Amino acid sequence: MQITKQTIPNTNYEVGRRSKTIEKVIIHWMVSDLNSANAQFKKVGGGTSAHYGIENDTVYQWVDEANTAYHAGNFNVNLESVGIEHSASPDRPASEQTYKTSGELVAQIAKRYNIPLDRAHIMRHGEVVATQCCGTVDVDKIISYAKGGPMDNESNTDKQVQFDRMLTHLRIKNFIATDASEKFTKPVRPDGLLKLLVEIWNDREIDRPKASKWDTICLKVGLSNTATVDEVAVELQPSVAKIAQARENGRIDGLKQAVETVKKLF
Ligand SMILES: [Zn+2]
Repeated sequence: MQITKQTIPNTNYEVGRRSKTIEKVIIHWMVSDLNSANAQFKKVGGGTSAHYGIENDTVYQWVDEANTAYHAGNFNVNLESVGIEHSASPDRPASEQTYKTSGELVAQIAKRYNIPLDRAHIMRHGEVVATQCCGTVDVDKIISYAKGGPMDNESNTDKQVQFDRMLTHLRIKNFIATDASEKFTKPVRPDGLLKLLVEIWNDREIDRPKASKWDTICLKVGLSNTATVDEVAVELQPSVAKIAQARENGRIDGLKQAVETVKKLF
């Protein structure tokens, strides 16, 4: 996600928030594309704006979050919200990449202002005033992506619980260290490798909820994400054995090579 700032006339937004705090994200659709929306908000005397516009992995920022954009059709809501425009129209639904980028952006905004990722706080424009906006754009899907994947809340929680259970399981079997603060400063021992795998996936999935890590781990070992903790642990063991063998053969000597070997295995 790359955010490009765009300058628009200062008559199309208000500087500051009049001491209000940001509590909501309002979802809009452009009924056009990013270029058209950009031209519209740059119009002198246009009197409308939004904080962000998304098209695939491109994000334009027209108004700083510290300022009030004119997007919701209700000034009080404008003072307390961030407005996001999505590239979509009646004959062109928002792309999957647009949804993913939106999820990422909404997750960041929610984190900054401690906004719950639910439908009371992430809203369709039409839930503020009478309008068709945001059309075919699916707010639930954006929320799902913001939580780490296109899945419902319940299974998200289940998978997080399952991921934690797997870690506990691996600790009990002495596959990974019980001290989470332990760093891989020494040559990696076979029994530390599962922890290493988890660390690598954690890095890749940075800023995303744990549920997506569970999905990733299951995918990497060739199981569906409904696999049990025991099934995943069994699938991981041959990989650990292979890495241990490579280490015995002198092909792994330290963290960097271990990481490279793990990446090749998966
Ligand atoms: Zn709208």
